[in-house]
Amino acid sequence: MPIAGIYGPEDFGSPVHGHPAAQARSRVTAGERARALPVPSLEWTPEVERNTAHLYQRVKKVISPAEWPFMAPYVQAINELKKTRDAVILAHNYQTPEIFHCVADIGGDSLQLAIEATKVKSSIIVQCGVHFMAETSKLLNPHKTVLIPDQRAGCSLASSITGADVRLLRERFPGVPVVAYVNTSADVKAEVDICCTSSNAVEVVESLGAPSVIFLPDQYLAKYVASKTSVKIIAWKGACEVHERFTGDELRAYREADPSVQIIAHPECPPDVLAEADFTGSTAHMINWVRSNRPKRVVMITECSMADNVRAELPGVEMVRPCNLCPHMKRITLPKILDSLIYLREEVTVDPVIAERARRSVERMINLKN
Ligand code: SF4
Repeated sequence: MPIAGIYGPEDFGSPVHGHPAAQARSRVTAGERARALPVPSLEWTPEVERNTAHLYQRVKKVISPAEWPFMAPYVQAINELKKTRDAVILAHNYQTPEIFHCVADIGGDSLQLAIEATKVKSSIIVQCGVHFMAETSKLLNPHKTVLIPDQRAGCSLASSITGADVRLLRERFPGVPVVAYVNTSADVKAEVDICCTSSNAVEVVESLGAPSVIFLPDQYLAKYVASKTSVKIIAWKGACEVHERFTGDELRAYREADPSVQIIAHPECPPDVLAEADFTGSTAHMINWVRSNRPKRVVMITECSMADNVRAELPGVEMVRPCNLCPHMKRITLPKILDSLIYLREEVTVDPVIAERARRSVERMINLKN
């Protein structure tokens, strides 16, 4: 059914929100220096080449032999420091291939990472993704140290709404349950009934058994959900700055250039884009679709590092990629991951009172899946 309404901060007289993550911080603090481990050698040597050769095999389709000598010393140092620090690296599908395939222990979409975060045994989690993902890991692992290599790795969706906005929405629509996409801050998760990801959004909305649901903050995902359910959806005006840049015209041009090309798109894209797609799904669903269908040529309408990661895994599939990079995901780099492990920076914390309530919303989603 058509969406029932889309609301934004201006409808409640609130300011448009800035990004909540901490300011940039590059200098090592006294506390970080006190707990630091020695900085490892970052020379490209025959030994490093030998030790990392098996990892280069995984990414050689997408990383040139000229680039690898600059990455391999970091890859080796990070993998050694992970053991010393008893750390695990969780990486989102939008991380670059040298991170996703060479230093990550677990990779996946937001839902997979949220579930895996509950099973982690290591005492430290390094989150290679954006700030809300690290917060989600902290919610599910309150007694572990959660680090993000760059606190400024935000998200246009997460910064579009605050917990105060959710309270105002509840006042406007009393009794209507609220579903929050995981791309929200802990402050927002604390105010909602349940979280969802793009993998399970329709299932979560329908699980509430309500005639109307407030769905936030992504207006395009809300429209996609509304098109798949009879539940009345009230949306928020947030958007992913990466996916909203794709256009239907762009996709039609790909189709005209090669009518046999397959186009698969993420539901954070606008409706005219999804109307042109052969398949719509979350990042995990898109990857599984390519694995099962093995198209000759495919256009993946999402963040472009994911196309690199899939191409590294499935070299027989040609990726025709319109490249929209997420500037927040790209803040995470090998040197910053190394710093994270050497200095135990930058630690993600959540106020315990907010964490308690936010955790319930995330766990309710995870329990629905199990
Ligand atoms: S790709 Fe979009 S939704 Fe994902 S982190 Fe970047 S801005 Fe947020």
